Amino acid sequence: MPQDLPIIGHWIDGKTVTGPHRSQEVWNPATGKAEKRVLLADKATVQAAVASAEKAYPAWRATPTLKRARVMSKLKNLLEMHAEKIAGLLTAEHGKVAGDAMGELQRGIENVEYASYATELLKGEHSRNVGPGIDSWSELQPLGVTAGITPFNFPAMVPLWMWPMAVVCGNAFVLKPSERDPSSALFIAQLALEAGLPPGILNVVNGDKESVDALLDDPRVQALSFVGSTPIAEYIYTRGCANGKRVQALGGAKNHAVVMPDADIENAVRALMGAAYGSCGERCMAIPLVVAVGDATADKVVAGLKAEIAKMKVGPGTDAKNDMGPLVTRQHFEKVKGYVDQGVAEGATLVVDGRGIKVPGHEEGFFLGACLFDHVKPNMVVYKEEIFGPVLGVVRVKTLEEAMRLIDAHEYGNGTCIFTRDGEAARYFTDHILVGMVGVNVPLPVPVAYHSFGGWKRSLFGDLHAYGPDAVRFYTKRKTITQRWPSAGVREGAIYSFPSTK
Ligand code: NAD
Repeated sequence: MPQDLPIIGHWIDGKTVTGPHRSQEVWNPATGKAEKRVLLADKATVQAAVASAEKAYPAWRATPTLKRARVMSKLKNLLEMHAEKIAGLLTAEHGKVAGDAMGELQRGIENVEYASYATELLKGEHSRNVGPGIDSWSELQPLGVTAGITPFNFPAMVPLWMWPMAVVCGNAFVLKPSERDPSSALFIAQLALEAGLPPGILNVVNGDKESVDALLDDPRVQALSFVGSTPIAEYIYTRGCANGKRVQALGGAKNHAVVMPDADIENAVRALMGAAYGSCGERCMAIPLVVAVGDATADKVVAGLKAEIAKMKVGPGTDAKNDMGPLVTRQHFEKVKGYVDQGVAEGATLVVDGRGIKVPGHEEGFFLGACLFDHVKPNMVVYKEEIFGPVLGVVRVKTLEEAMRLIDAHEYGNGTCIFTRDGEAARYFTDHILVGMVGVNVPLPVPVAYHSFGGWKRSLFGDLHAYGPDAVRFYTKRKTITQRWPSAGVREGAIYSFPSTK
């Protein structure tokens, strides 16, 4: 293994672990240079992380909920204290601009804050006198060792969707972050130790398919949360379920924004700019498709977007004046650029071409300027597939019904929104559309930490959504206890009929 670059190891039992493993470069997308190497765990390292979690679990399970919750309160403070450092790690490895990195972290912190309400969330339900002298209650018990596998695009936030709720519920957790930008998740795990989380309750293993498969096949792992692309989500769900685990696997997206003729077009256009090009389009809730109802609406939207794109500043995320940074890796840059080439070949009209953009002083960076297609048709690859880059396509339809038929027929159903001033149209849309998260004049309807996050169709495999109340259910097992204390010395006869209150 080349020793020239700083090495990113694993975090097991409250210590950094390095070893003679495979490794790969971690790039700074703005400079186009590899600046670190991350170790890729083998099966034995993953098994050691699971063993450490299993060992730490019983004492943590027995720790009073309030004490576990206090760890989350302390962690929230530490995250706020170290926010700039964490945002810096995000920009250095993912490329997103500083303000966006801070926004991501803040959303993550809100999940930690919600986890700190565990004493309320885990109270359970109690019924007195369900029968004569009989009481019954339901409680939410932890599962044991749980695990999470996360994507590159929210390297701090998505892990915080998972493990804070898992551990506050009394579980131990093994996290496998994205190998493309692993540093923030590792640093946050160290902060969790400082906040009072016992060693072993949160272990972080870096790696690729080998480490993921080791988690999927380890019988000690009871439940597994995944966020990433749809083909891998489906694989994780299928293999995890076949191995008897509880699995939730959140996948990819292709979110449509409907613009109605009565919408406030100027404001809609500005909202669409952030939703399409923020974070370089690398968000599962990004809007890569606008469905404009009527040609007049489409003409106004396209003209507005073109004018706004001309004002956009593209450059390194470290410079506060920039609106959009680079794509995450050269490989991803090539893939996104290939989609733009394909859109042109398929006959969509490329209104703004971001290919070939040069950022002075960052010529090797993975920068792609904003691209805008008009006249995108549903049979085109650029309509059907998730591009995950700064590429926005406008589809022209005649009616809201036609727009809704398109959205419903798409394989993904993560997010969508409608821009309109017509309450009846908005209500009809939110009521009927086959999508999990819906906005009305809100382009990124990402639920806050105390609601849950999840798409429909091939954007989510499993039943329970991520974070919020669903996470409490995902990371616990319900147990219902029925109890009576007959008076000593009273003899009772056998009862052969099914017990009831009749
Ligand atoms: P990805 O699927 O390539 O990787 C996600 C995780 O899976 C990583 O930790 C990776 O190491 C692991 N992985 C990759 N290939 C694997 C394989 N063959 N076997 C086992 N594990 C494997 O996703 P990504 O490129 O890191 O992230 C972008 C994708 O994530 C997009 O599709 C985006 O829509 C999706 N995403 C979805 C949500 C959501 O909530 N629905 C949120 C964020 C991102």
